[in-house]
Amino acid sequence: MVLAQLGGSISRALQQMSNATVIDEKVLNECLNEISRALLQSDVQFKLVRDMQTNIKKIVNLDDLAAGHNKRKIIQQIGVDKVLGQTVLLYWEGVSPNGVAIFNELCKILDPGKPSFTPKKGKTSVIMFVGLQGCGKTTSCTKYAYYHQKKGWKPALVCADTFRAGAFDQLKQNATKAKIPFYGSYMESDPATIAVEGVERFKKENCDLIIVDTSGRHKQEAALFEEMRQVSEATKPDLVIFVMDSSIGQAAFDQAQAFKKSVSVGAVIVTKMDGHAKGGGALSAVAATKSPVIFIGTGEHMDEFEVFDAKPFVSRLLG
Ligand code: GDP
Repeated sequence: MVLAQLGGSISRALQQMSNATVIDEKVLNECLNEISRALLQSDVQFKLVRDMQTNIKKIVNLDDLAAGHNKRKIIQQIGVDKVLGQTVLLYWEGVSPNGVAIFNELCKILDPGKPSFTPKKGKTSVIMFVGLQGCGKTTSCTKYAYYHQKKGWKPALVCADTFRAGAFDQLKQNATKAKIPFYGSYMESDPATIAVEGVERFKKENCDLIIVDTSGRHKQEAALFEEMRQVSEATKPDLVIFVMDSSIGQAAFDQAQAFKKSVSVGAVIVTKMDGHAKGGGALSAVAATKSPVIFIGTGEHMDEFEVFDAKPFVSRLLG
């Protein structure tokens, strides 16, 4: 991994530390502050960054720092034992390995240790999408369906959003454009009823990927979570995907956790990665839901959707 790929602030901070003749508390603090600033600017949760900083300081042997010698030993002691709930060890000497260590460890944070449920072609799976209003849920449902359709699946879309006027029309329009069968109702006001009707219909039609789009709210509300619980209870989804806007910033952890408490979120999709936001909230969402990011949205169009790859994501985060 070349330094340039690791982006600006963090690699610069590490380089400064490596170049210092003596690593004392001041040099260490400057380095940690620089790394923390970069992670905060990328929307990684404040508490997690602070914990990381505290943990590193605890691990470093201050006596060695005071003596101001044995640089290599000190550097190797610098570890992070807990970052976002994951055990992490960092040590470095020289510029490039430093960056690689941090880079790899951030990638590991994005890996909750177990893959999400993976639907199988030809076998019916019900996938429920949840998220706040405007996060890109309906768009991502269609993208997810379209992505699989291109690979020979038989997807179908169910609109269980009775809260937002126009939600069904939007899904209908997207589905029609992609030639994907859809189900919804202008009359029925109970989302769980519509969801069940849609799922049953598409099961009969032997669709192998039945995608249930649910409603959102502008903020986390008890009514929304109760509704999600009911839809989930009624449709028994194989996978619940939490959709988050890459720009939600520091709110990501609480938001993801709130959804996880009402339904069993098993995967994350991060949208609007084509914008300015770096999407550091994704690390929080992974930590809060213990679920991996599976796709990212990179534009408004149907095919602007990519399988998540931690490496370019982390490069961007550190940049
Ligand atoms: P929902 O309320 O969560 O269902 O959100 P929508 O799917 O209606 O999306 C809200 C807005 O975000 C729409 O204007 C979408 O076109 C837009 N959007 C969704 N995903 C992306 C994305 O990955 N990139 C960009 N630039 N816009 C997106």
